[in-house]
Amino acid sequence: MRFKELYGHEKPISILRSTMAGDRIAHAYLFYGMEGVGKRTTASVFARALNCGEEDPPCDACASCRKAAHNNHPNIITIQAEGQFIKIGAIKEIQARMAFRPGEGKRVFILEEADRMNAAAANALLKTLEEPSAGNVFLLTTARSHALPMTILSRCQHLRFAPLPRGEVSRFLREKEGLEAAAAEVLAAASGGSIGRALEMNREDYITLRNGILEHLAQDDPADLLKRLAFAGRFGTEREEILERLRILRSGYRDGLVFRETGEKESLMFRDRAGVIEAIAGRLSGRDLLHNIAAVEAAISAIAQNANKSLTLEAMLIKLA
Ligand SMILES: [Zn+2]
Repeated sequence: MRFKELYGHEKPISILRSTMAGDRIAHAYLFYGMEGVGKRTTASVFARALNCGEEDPPCDACASCRKAAHNNHPNIITIQAEGQFIKIGAIKEIQARMAFRPGEGKRVFILEEADRMNAAAANALLKTLEEPSAGNVFLLTTARSHALPMTILSRCQHLRFAPLPRGEVSRFLREKEGLEAAAAEVLAAASGGSIGRALEMNREDYITLRNGILEHLAQDDPADLLKRLAFAGRFGTEREEILERLRILRSGYRDGLVFRETGEKESLMFRDRAGVIEAIAGRLSGRDLLHNIAAVEAAISAIAQNANKSLTLEAMLIKLA
């Protein structure tokens, strides 16, 4: 894959390319931004570029690029969490490799979801970052840069990966997933600028799930707590499952607010369900909708940080207007 095949992110990409052209490559980069916007893909393309000797790298054709395409390049090492954490063993392995100089090109360590490093791993990485050694480049990606220690953040060059414009997500869905323009537009509008999320939503069961949640919101009644608890009982037990449902809830309230304020169906995330959104907007005041969005967001961040799932959901349901 080449730089021009990436979707969006003109700014960080042009920074990466110009630092390469000017031979001002930083020792460590932090790619931060929401999930599913292309941080890892860009890191992988940049790693290939740093090891490709051709003009306008990566060329996708030389021996180095071909090895990288087969995940078989000795200079490109990806580190991921084992279970929930990136542990010290993974960082020790990096340090052991660094005892040897890389051959040609740059040795690139890509730490995916770097915020998953536990304290011991982060400390070990910090020592490594404090003693830059030529020939090694660190690419840290994260959707939660606030969870990384300041000492590590301060040693990286930061590149922000903003949510993608709706048009870019839609173009991806048409070009890579073969979606019809209309379906691509609906998903892109609901994706919040994340290709990853659009792909998650491109499932039959997602549409059913979403429609069920929106129907519930349209008929929800704060006095009927039992019905609410039964509703939350269907949220599942896995963190990702629950988060997906909470995000739908949040978008439903947001759409309700947008519809209340503007009366425009065009600006809704769930434009294809405008009738139900209208019912939600009719049931709740602007103030209630804002209050509910805040309550759902608080639950999302608590569950993302591993709070007790059922307690968090119950506390949220009691608060909702
Ligand atoms: Zn190449």
